[in-house]
Amino acid sequence: MSFCCGASMIGTKGTLKHFRTHIHNVPIMFCPVCHRVDIHYLIENEYEILAEYAHGDCAAEVDFQEYVEQEGKALLENCVNHENEDPMDVVHSQIDMALDLLSFAKQIEDTEWQLVLKKRLGMLNSRRNKLRQRRTSV
Ligand SMILES: [Zn+2]
Repeated sequence: MSFCCGASMIGTKGTLKHFRTHIHNVPIMFCPVCHRVDIHYLIENEYEILAEYAHGDCAAEVDFQEYVEQEGKALLENCVNHENEDPMDVVHSQIDMALDLLSFAKQIEDTEWQLVLKKRLGMLNSRRNKLRQRRTSV
């Protein structure tokens, strides 16, 4: 439970703006008193990934719910990363997860979802390469 202004914040869904991209149905915590909006801590990581790739795509609008909800609860559990976790491990487990989901998407012949996952894998891959470069240059 999150608190703000001494009142508990309300869990809801809202539209957030990342550069020029509107991201709909993002789980947020909303303070009824001062109208502060926080991204729900469970999906912060996923939000960041989606926002990044939507921005890279120059997408004007994306739907967070469409992107995440079909992946179910496992994803929510998986995207809770601890601060002291190695970012390389995090990227690796995200890649593994996306690959699992991709083979599932193929099984159920959901081509739209496959595209989303492929884009995401591309992004995760470049993130991994960046981490690798950073590591070798130290
Ligand atoms: Zn407040």
